[in-house]
Amino acid sequence: MEPRAKSSVLLIYTGGTIGMKPDPETGVLAPFDFSTIYDEFPYLGKLDVELEVINLTPIDSSNVTPELWCELARLIRDNYDAYDGFVVLHGTDTMSYSASALSFMLVNLARPVIFSGSQIDGRENLITAVEIAAAREGGRAVVPEVCICFQNKLFRANRTTKHSAEQLNAFRSDNYPILAEVGVSIHYNRPFIRRPAPDPGPL
Ligand code: ASP
Repeated sequence: MEPRAKSSVLLIYTGGTIGMKPDPETGVLAPFDFSTIYDEFPYLGKLDVELEVINLTPIDSSNVTPELWCELARLIRDNYDAYDGFVVLHGTDTMSYSASALSFMLVNLARPVIFSGSQIDGRENLITAVEIAAAREGGRAVVPEVCICFQNKLFRANRTTKHSAEQLNAFRSDNYPILAEVGVSIHYNRPFIRRPAPDPGPL
């Protein structure tokens, strides 16, 4: 298949704080409609990425069950050829569990699946996650694996733990190096990023 000129990313919103904003009258956080994503995150429009959104019924991630993992795996499989990368927005409380499960379910994965979310304002996390999901070199994904992107760092999903519900840098990877650090640009830690087989077979 000919590589596309512009990267395309499918964003799947499952819930969590990243998709909430304060109700103007009560001040209570309430989910917003993710189909208005460009209104909520206008900077996304400046990225050179074709973005499409699937809005699942938003849930707090403490209510996630394996059914959601299966739904995510199915959505990624069914849309696999149409997109260069995938972003899954998910609450932070069980993000490590869902992202780890997906890393074992998506056998032969050769495209990025980047989980992200937020504990307060997730703008930067979301934009960086989309950039990483869209990143290609020579027609190949730069990060062809399931990751968590949080607070300027990219982690291998199945090595992460959420270690703080208070600090902005909520996640850490105790037994595997960080896959990328985000400053003015994104610095990939290439020797530690997974390389899929040249012809990995169907997902
Ligand atoms: N309780 C929320 C959740 O995990 C917290 C968050 O979004 O970070 O869904």
